[in-house]
Amino acid sequence: MVQTGKKGDISQGQSSDIIIIGGGITGLFSAYYLTMAGKKVRIIEKDLVGSGASHGNCGLLVFSDLLPLCTPGTVQSELVRMIKGKSPLSIKPGINIPLWKFLYKFWTYCNEKSMHHSMGVRNEILNLSRELFEDFFGKQNPCEWEDKGVFIVCKDKDGLKKYGKVKELLEPFGIGHRFLSKEELLEREPAVKSDIAGGYLHSADSHLKPDLLINYLKVYLKTEKKVVFEENCHVKDFSVKNNKIKGVYTSRGEFKADHFVIAAGAWSGLILKNLGISIPVEPGKGYSITMERPGICPKAPCYMYESNVVATPFQTGYRLGGTMEFSGFNLSLNRKRLIKIKEAAKNYMKEPFGEPLIEEWTSLRPMCADDIPIISRLPEQHNAILAAGHGMMGITMATGTGKLVSEMVCEQETSIGVEPFRITRFSL
Ligand SMILES: Cc1cc2nc3c(=O)[nH]c(=O)nc-3n(C[C@H](O)[C@H](O)[C@H](O)COP(=O)(O)OP(=O)(O)OC[C@H]3O[C@@H](n4cnc5c(N)ncnc54)[C@H](O)[C@@H]3O)c2cc1C
Repeated sequence: MVQTGKKGDISQGQSSDIIIIGGGITGLFSAYYLTMAGKKVRIIEKDLVGSGASHGNCGLLVFSDLLPLCTPGTVQSELVRMIKGKSPLSIKPGINIPLWKFLYKFWTYCNEKSMHHSMGVRNEILNLSRELFEDFFGKQNPCEWEDKGVFIVCKDKDGLKKYGKVKELLEPFGIGHRFLSKEELLEREPAVKSDIAGGYLHSADSHLKPDLLINYLKVYLKTEKKVVFEENCHVKDFSVKNNKIKGVYTSRGEFKADHFVIAAGAWSGLILKNLGISIPVEPGKGYSITMERPGICPKAPCYMYESNVVATPFQTGYRLGGTMEFSGFNLSLNRKRLIKIKEAAKNYMKEPFGEPLIEEWTSLRPMCADDIPIISRLPEQHNAILAAGHGMMGITMATGTGKLVSEMVCEQETSIGVEPFRITRFSL
């Protein structure tokens, strides 16, 4: 953190009402609602817009996914699965103190009380996001959005039974996942192999092609809403005066604004260190493989339950994605993880791959210890809002998050209570 005055004045020409740090889906939807409220926005992105986790993800809008990752028994069962080589999770051995602190914190949330709390909170933001996405897609569909539900495909009876328990937990929220016998599932989704046990249909869920959504938002915000995009511009530090952020110091100079939104995904914690703030958000690396559509392409996304791998059909392609690797901020492609994804697909899908290959991709999910995003004013610098930690749900929660950010900046009553998303729920 730098006190203003020490580095000279910030050029007037670089001023805007609001600076958003991070050009991922969270930053873009924040800009979308802020400009709707009449604000002048600048987005600062260290690489290119959409180059973080928002590019090659599976594109599911899983409004029914209320269950957080931290549930009773998760740590024990994932450890056993890791030892057996069957877990999507991998943790790089070594001394990484923030990671071990994060994992410990995650473990403290693996109990009934936290799980039920989290389900209620997630339900609120997911309902808000669903309504806002419905409104958004009522006006345009720039990203191959399809409302076909999501299949949970269970290979064996144990998986079917285990998911049955998830279904029971979701029922009080009015989320009806339809059970599908093996025959029903095969009839509805002929792309699935015949040696499965059965599955479920989440009919309230849908999917889209995330890179198309990102590109659309970028062009729309730039041309229609005059949002200024600063790409290849790395935010390094803040200038602060009297507990107010005045500006950001970047690799391309200094920018000032009245309000700041930190929407830097998995990297948000690195930026906040400059303000002496620590958050339990760690990078959870995931992978995807995008191909042309195979001959027998799924009609709707298929979540291969025991393998935690998703096959998403797009109108213009097909994607396999999954795995969760805690290995710091490195973005190298680990071929073993890609092979694991392909093996899962071979196990469940009749024609698991399409030709040619379009992209092999990896990025970092912003994993928050309690699997609830942080959408909150900073405790001291009240003109800054943090919107990060959306984990595996950042696309799904993007509209709700953007709307809440805008309402908080504009000091309006928020669409849902924001107390559960506050940063101070963790001891800082
Ligand atoms: C394999 C995989 C599959 C997934 N599938 C789904 C799914 O089906 N549905 C779903 O809802 N979610 C899914 N997710 C999760 C989702 O992709 C993320 O939650 C979401 O993209 C997070 O968006 P974000 O904008 O917060 O972060 P990001 O998209 O990562 O954006 C943050 C941006 O901030 C920039 N930045 C960082 N530091 C700085 C700095 N100092 N200065 C300037 N800019 C900076 C980064 O470059 C980046 O572009 C998946 C993720 C993965 C990896």
